[in-house]
Amino acid sequence: KAKSAPKKKIEGAALIGIDVAKDDDLAEWYQQVLTKGKMIDFYDVSGCYILLPASYSIWEIIKSWFDAKIQTIGVKNCYFPIFISQDNLQKEKDHIEGFAAEVAWVTKGGKSDLEKPVAVRPTSETAMYGYYAKSIQSHRDLPLKLNQWNNVVRWEFKHPMPFIRSREFLWQEGHTAHLTLEEAGKEVLQILDWYTGIYEELLAVPVVKGRKTEAEKFPGAEYTTTIEGFIASTGRGIQAGTSHCLGQHFSKMYGITVEDPSTREGGEKKPPVFVQQNSWGLTTRSIGVMILTHGDNKGLVIPPRVADIQVVIVPVGVTAKTTDEDKEKLYGGINKAYEALQKGSAWDLPLRIELDNREGYSPGWKFNDWELKGVPLRLEIGPKDLEKGVATFSRRDVEGKDTLPLESIATAVPELLLKIQSDLFNRASEAYASHRKIIREWDDFVPTLNNKNVCLIRHCLGEKCEDEIKAMSARTTAGDSAAEDARAPSMGAKSLCIPFEQPDGLVEGDKCTNPNCKDVAKKWVMFGRSY
Ligand code: AMP
Repeated sequence: KAKSAPKKKIEGAALIGIDVAKDDDLAEWYQQVLTKGKMIDFYDVSGCYILLPASYSIWEIIKSWFDAKIQTIGVKNCYFPIFISQDNLQKEKDHIEGFAAEVAWVTKGGKSDLEKPVAVRPTSETAMYGYYAKSIQSHRDLPLKLNQWNNVVRWEFKHPMPFIRSREFLWQEGHTAHLTLEEAGKEVLQILDWYTGIYEELLAVPVVKGRKTEAEKFPGAEYTTTIEGFIASTGRGIQAGTSHCLGQHFSKMYGITVEDPSTREGGEKKPPVFVQQNSWGLTTRSIGVMILTHGDNKGLVIPPRVADIQVVIVPVGVTAKTTDEDKEKLYGGINKAYEALQKGSAWDLPLRIELDNREGYSPGWKFNDWELKGVPLRLEIGPKDLEKGVATFSRRDVEGKDTLPLESIATAVPELLLKIQSDLFNRASEAYASHRKIIREWDDFVPTLNNKNVCLIRHCLGEKCEDEIKAMSARTTAGDSAAEDARAPSMGAKSLCIPFEQPDGLVEGDKCTNPNCKDVAKKWVMFGRSY
């Protein structure tokens, strides 16, 4: 076996920093960034991770933003138990088929076997809908809109990856019931827009909105809408959040009905109608996508809008020769700047500022430390800066330093934060756009995937055809066991979504791009290797 090339060491990497380049070994880089940046720590149950304050604070910001949005449409938060009875879990056939392989079961209480095992929720449709059947008695009980912020367990056997694919993860799951499919459908899209907001506005991560094909929809859904992200370093797509219309699949199984509206209006008595349902979920995966998108060879890069610390002030220019009087002057000036900043705000919230007065660390060490942790903006203030009435600043997302007048610090800093936020988004957006290729000939499909792109092709929307495309785009030469491994570049491509925004040029009668498929193309579908 050929010896792999030695890893390129990052030039000037400090001991505390990341010692492998993102482009050289993404998996190792990701692990170092997460642990050295204090986002997570490892745990002795495979696929489970400790979420430290640096990452949990981001989740809390997502939570409060999204909670405020869903409250405007009357969603209420609640909590249902983590355990689901076997009978309940198995009520909807497609649903259990889709989840069976990943359900974790409790089979023992202490030393004794349970009479019937209970499932740990992989999602809560089946935990909640018995209650929905009981509490929805008339049209006056509709719409019912409940949401939970909780944890779920999916005992996956694919390679786990912190945030991206874990066995236990945090999410919110919304479950709503409506009288009409039309009303349910509107909500599905409204939620998808807010999910887009979480990624694009908060995390500065671009996504593509669309609908899942039949093969990829949620088990038990009428249809699934999705936002699809992109990890540029690997060229792989990632499902970023999903909003499902469940139609009447579950209401029929659970008997969730209301009186037919025409009966109510005094017309001829008709049988009761089954309600239309939605469910929608977004997980801590979002934090992983953000880290993979923006992080660089120095560590984390946190978008200012979700950064626990947005600005750090580091005192500089103090030497052994600095007199006590000069020190006093310096710290007086720094405190004034700090107080002025406390009056500033960004995104209608007070600035989150840290003054790094730690003793025994050099300014250079502190710079590395805050860069590793991804703090978006660093202010360096020394005696010379004070003399000139400025603060030196360094943006985490670009190289170089500049100065800003101390006088207007409370407005200049928020402006910089807004600029950093939009620059991060724009750069990621350009990267995604330039790796989303429209492919017209099958022969270009696999080479384009191999060049770290996702591909839009004309497709028939057939499930069998999707399987064929997956098989044809996996490298299956004898001895290549990597084809089935999601980590390997040779894994097959699957359909990511049918983008709402369709490229031009699909003409009636156009053939499906799969050369072995005889059907006509119905839509442009985005395919890619994915997480
Ligand atoms: P679902 O309920 O299957 O539609 O999943 C909702 C969302 O959870 C998906 O859109 C993914 O972004 C995310 N997700 C799925 N599996 C995992 C996992 N193992 N770890 C973290 N997030 C996940």
